[in-house]
Amino acid sequence: MKKTILTGIRPTGNLHLGHYFGACQNWLKLQNDYEFFLEIADVQALTDNFDNPEKVRKNVKELSIDLLSIGIDPKKTRMFIQSKIPEIAELTVFYSNLVTIARLYRNPTVKTEIAQKKALFGNEGESVTYGFVGYPVSQAADITAFHGELIPVGEDQLPLIEQCREIVRKFNHIYGETLKEPEALLSPTPRIKGLDGNEKMGKSLGNAIYLADDEETISKKIMNAKTDPEKIKKDDPANPEICMVYYYHKLIKNENLETVCKECKAGSRGCVACKKELIEKMNEFLSPIREKRTYYLEHPEEVKQILEDGTKEAKKKAENTLSSVKTSMNINYEEL
Ligand code: SF4
Repeated sequence: MKKTILTGIRPTGNLHLGHYFGACQNWLKLQNDYEFFLEIADVQALTDNFDNPEKVRKNVKELSIDLLSIGIDPKKTRMFIQSKIPEIAELTVFYSNLVTIARLYRNPTVKTEIAQKKALFGNEGESVTYGFVGYPVSQAADITAFHGELIPVGEDQLPLIEQCREIVRKFNHIYGETLKEPEALLSPTPRIKGLDGNEKMGKSLGNAIYLADDEETISKKIMNAKTDPEKIKKDDPANPEICMVYYYHKLIKNENLETVCKECKAGSRGCVACKKELIEKMNEFLSPIREKRTYYLEHPEEVKQILEDGTKEAKKKAENTLSSVKTSMNINYEEL
């Protein structure tokens, strides 16, 4: 029996290299060896974007196309839309009784995100919604609805898995053994840095390269990437390890990496030429993804069908889970 993996992504924008190298590349391998469920987490995206559902809706399509373009295979992966499986919402309600407000506020991931909101929006950050604070509960429902056994995460998301494990333990303790405790599967790639040298690549930070970027956009972005500030003249020796251009040469596995490093250190390579080489390599790297993207953009019916099929299969599994949860809680009311 293959183990089940559940992973998810919020439809709030297109995929960038941070998503690709930090998570998706690993998913492409995992989908071969596990029963793989990939959730387009639109309900979770609404916790931050409840006043802009149009943005979420538009990005469900965009994100699905991105995921198929990088190689998510609908024959191996059940890709589904969260809101089309109401069983998840129902499980969320039951689980919400098993966790205290204080515990949710203590969750380090929630704490950090609240602090970020406050830093970004000032006083508005005070108005953190019930839905936002409760999203780890909804995430526990996502995971358990499919009996997710392994959950691919980054270090910063470990507290969310721990929260889910606590909910599962409490449920099983009160109502009897019903749910599986998931385990975290740590991403093999650490967080991907932004073009500006920030430790994180992100949409709101304006430092991302998107898989959907065209050649002109790629060129502009790379020409503005952060390099070694000590290198003023073309033939000044520099330190590639603090240069984002070198970082991306490494990330996309430029076969000339050693030469780039040597020439940079020796001062025999100018930054403009080095950036131009990266632009060329980056376009080569993105080219097959772009080709597939164009195909799916021209075949929206196929994308719709893939989502419908994935959602149908995922729903069956969630229905079974909800039924056993209700039976354990003695609220199935098949007999009064
Ligand atoms: Fe960076 Fe290349 Fe300039 Fe060296 S030569 S600092 S690696 S852009």
